[in-house]
Amino acid sequence: MSVLIYTDSADGTLTKNAFEAANYGALLAKKEGKSATAIVIGEASDIDKLGAYGVTKVLHVNDAALNNFDPQRNAAIIAQAVTKENATTIIFPHDYSGKATAPMLVAKLDAGLVTGAVALPEGNTVRKAVFSGKAFADVEIKTAIKIISVLPNAVDKQIGEGSVAVENFSCEIPTTRLTVKEVKKASTELSLTEADIVVSAGRGLKGPENWGMIEELAQELGAATACSRPVADIGWRPHHEHVGQTGIAIRPNLYIAVGISGAIQHLAGVNGSKTIVVINTDPEAPFFKAADYGIVGDAFEVVPKMIAAVKKLKG
Ligand SMILES: Cc1cc2nc3c(=O)[nH]c(=O)nc-3n(C[C@H](O)[C@H](O)[C@H](O)COP(=O)(O)OP(=O)(O)OC[C@H]3O[C@@H](n4cnc5c(N)ncnc54)[C@H](O)[C@@H]3O)c2cc1C
Repeated sequence: MSVLIYTDSADGTLTKNAFEAANYGALLAKKEGKSATAIVIGEASDIDKLGAYGVTKVLHVNDAALNNFDPQRNAAIIAQAVTKENATTIIFPHDYSGKATAPMLVAKLDAGLVTGAVALPEGNTVRKAVFSGKAFADVEIKTAIKIISVLPNAVDKQIGEGSVAVENFSCEIPTTRLTVKEVKKASTELSLTEADIVVSAGRGLKGPENWGMIEELAQELGAATACSRPVADIGWRPHHEHVGQTGIAIRPNLYIAVGISGAIQHLAGVNGSKTIVVINTDPEAPFFKAADYGIVGDAFEVVPKMIAAVKKLKG
């Protein structure tokens, strides 16, 4: 019996969330005395790295025609891998790929699904985040086949030096009702959901012309940029940067919020970040209550000093 992990790739390499899901699946397999097998659909040049994350075997459907993400097709392929591997637990990353594919597999396998897991299961019970990360729910899966999607950055990784056996998986590629013909990235910048560090700014920046320093700080830190909703609504920043309840939910290691008040709807999308730094002129800004580090100060003075400090540290 095995734990099967779906590892998504983008631009020819596996995603950060895929490696995290792989590690979660491998830790679960070890705990339950099972083997950890990953399935990769489409081209990916870094499959060998999965060994370090505890995966021992990879089923690779190595076909460039499958590079475009297609959840309907992928669910049908994964179902075949479940049968081949006699898998009783299937792990997905809780990102766009897992959110789209896992429910389709649930329907195919008549399985129970827990989304957004934050810890390894205890028996059949899985802990997940609810109410935008404000509480946890312990959910019991009662079906023979269990499907779990893992919240990014929620479970500590254990990376070793293991190696992985890669097997070409020949399976039936289904004819689906829709065909994804091309996927075009909205931007060439670092993906928000994959970034370790995010520099985000809000209405406190006064206008779009002042974003240069935010972009510079992000560049120096190797970070992605984000923004509050009004900033995207007014058109100061593109909508794909909007984080929060109605935007993208992110969980980076470091979230730097500049001139953002910290409204509950904003916090809902960022409060899973490991470390939060807030820069705001108003000492009463609600964001300070959620912050690990706070600077009461003017962004136009603080951010240039941060840029200079990072440059000095690097140089
Ligand atoms: C249904 C619903 C859903 C929503 N979803 C989202 C969502 O997904 N994401 C989201 O972000 N919002 C969302 N909102 C909006 C949210 O309620 C807030 O209005 C919004 O987050 C405020 O954005 P802001 O902090 O950029 O602006 P403001 O509230 O105007 O805050 C600006 C902050 O900048 C500070 N400031 C001013 N000048 C400076 C300076 N020079 N230096 C440093 N700090 C300065 C101020 O003290 C203030 O705290 C939603 C609202 C509703 C009703």
